[in-house]
Amino acid sequence: MEILLADILEDGLHVDGSFPKTIFDLSEDDSIRPEADVHYDGDIYRFEDALVFTGRLYGKFQLQCARCLEYFDFEADFAWSSDLDLEKRQFSFDLKEVVREDFLLELPSSPMCDEMVEGKVCEKAEFIEQVETSDEVEKEPEDDGRDVWGALDDFGKAK
Ligand SMILES: [Zn+2]
Repeated sequence: MEILLADILEDGLHVDGSFPKTIFDLSEDDSIRPEADVHYDGDIYRFEDALVFTGRLYGKFQLQCARCLEYFDFEADFAWSSDLDLEKRQFSFDLKEVVREDFLLELPSSPMCDEMVEGKVCEKAEFIEQVETSDEVEKEPEDDGRDVWGALDDFGKAK
């Protein structure tokens, strides 16, 4: 959805509406699955070389737990706060792209199902604790915990 910069007056431009989930164009096995239209409701302010967006972004998603890889429901509802640098001679921009990028930035990057769904028990939580405990036993001299998280990342990527 192309918006002309000329339409953004001194006191800003109010925008609200929704985009279909297809704007994300993610594969079925992506860790983020948009479930329905995503909504935006906010104001756009124009400065000399940037636009500023403020307001609210919300929509229904399924996210994949970084530990057990199960998908769980997540109601995204964020404060919309971002900006977009403007090129010289730019006269318009695609609101759809801004909304898409801002959702992807704001969605949690390594969500844990038991932390985000009340009462949910992550099947792999116990397993991860075991990994952490066994790592402590090894007592690596510069143990700053990064190895554990590296292992977790690899685990999360494993199919
Ligand atoms: Zn889980």
